[in-house]
Amino acid sequence: MTAPYSIIVCSSTNHMLRADQLLVANHVPRQLIPVPGYLGSVCNTAIKVRTADLSRVKELLGGVQLEGIYPLEPQKLEGAGSLLTGILPKEFQSVIGKLAQGEDFTRDELIYLLSLQELPLVEKLYALADRMRRQVVGDVVDIRAAIEFSNYCRQNCCYCGLRRDNSQLLRYRMEPGEIVGLSKNLFRMGIRTVILQSGEDPGYTVEMLVALVKAIKKATKLGITLSIGERAAEEYRLLREAGANNFLLKIETANPKLYAVMHPGADYIARVHSTENLRDLGYRTGSGNIIGLPGQSIEDLADDILFMKEKGIHMVGIGPFLPAANTPLAGHQPGSEELTLKTIAVARLVLKNVFIPSTTALATLNPDAQAKGLQVGANTLMIIATPERYRANYEIYSNKAAVNLERAIELVTSLGRELPRPIRVSMGLRKTK
Ligand code: SAM
Ligand code: SF4
Repeated sequence: MTAPYSIIVCSSTNHMLRADQLLVANHVPRQLIPVPGYLGSVCNTAIKVRTADLSRVKELLGGVQLEGIYPLEPQKLEGAGSLLTGILPKEFQSVIGKLAQGEDFTRDELIYLLSLQELPLVEKLYALADRMRRQVVGDVVDIRAAIEFSNYCRQNCCYCGLRRDNSQLLRYRMEPGEIVGLSKNLFRMGIRTVILQSGEDPGYTVEMLVALVKAIKKATKLGITLSIGERAAEEYRLLREAGANNFLLKIETANPKLYAVMHPGADYIARVHSTENLRDLGYRTGSGNIIGLPGQSIEDLADDILFMKEKGIHMVGIGPFLPAANTPLAGHQPGSEELTLKTIAVARLVLKNVFIPSTTALATLNPDAQAKGLQVGANTLMIIATPERYRANYEIYSNKAAVNLERAIELVTSLGRELPRPIRVSMGLRKTK
């Protein structure tokens, strides 16, 4: 039987964007998705089309360089059946059956998995997610470094310590030269992706950011992830052209009503449009959510995961809510560690070939939880490379953990996982296995 969907893999991002534009202009239904694991490189973008439309697609894409057009195979979880042990509820058996066949979960099934309470079932969920992680992205834990270069912010997110109404915070902006110097050091240490993160700071103009991205690209071979909030589509385009590779813009919650409560003056639809703009410009796009926002339900978490699937997200940051001093939510309970871990596990099972960090927020909630995150589906760690003198003022939440490279290496090796080769080489370390 012919697969109902096919995927187009192009020879470069530019050709992918050209192909995408042609399909959109000619009203051919398409979706941009991460390249599935069975076709190789993690986290590049492919175009999913209906197999029935292929002859028209081939006609339209005559001038585009393609790596290939492939049937979209179901991504079956190998060995899922080996976890069918003991007496299991029917719903759980059906979930395992779907994983073994590579079938999609329904929204109700996601809610069922996120609601699991009995320890043996939760542990099976974690084991399934860990197996999926190993199958689709392997044992290497990618280690990325964040430079938090400005804490000015024009937004007023209720949960965040950088919100504009927090007058207790000393605001800072790092000089571009200092950021480039840090980036060079990171490259020497074997880091291959730097995350430039800030509040939404119009004082760091697009011209300054473009110059910064170009300077880092000139001085190093680092991949650059921007995490600078919402900007005009034109600014996203200029930054992409300057060389930025990835963009992290979390949806935070895909429940529009909860989004409106948590983000006074901000617009949910604009956030969604920004996410789509970024993806359509060829960025590898990051999103994610916060677990445990006041008023959030399990259904909301299922919808967050479905949102990320629908938008073809490549990097998924899932972290617990942590109360921050001088914010409207300062007195609220933090999000649950277990629910965060379950959301990571379910996200891995649904989204498959994506980067999922075991977040700093998880480490802040409980230092041991970050290791747990890596065992239930996560495959990335983020170290903080912001100079010491700025850190106290980048308190998005109180008592933020400071994970450094030594700690990250210790964590990865203690779990028997692999370090990225450049880090191993620069540190003179041997392969774990
Ligand atoms: N300003 C940019 C933005 O919002 O996209 C990037 C910086 S912002 C500090 C990075 C992330 O911090 C947000 O996406 C949000 O998920 C997270 N964050 C902020 N306050 C938090 C809190 N109190 N608990 C957990 N996560 C929080
Ligand atoms: Fe600003 Fe980002 Fe914090 Fe919102 S989450 S207040 S946009 S830094």
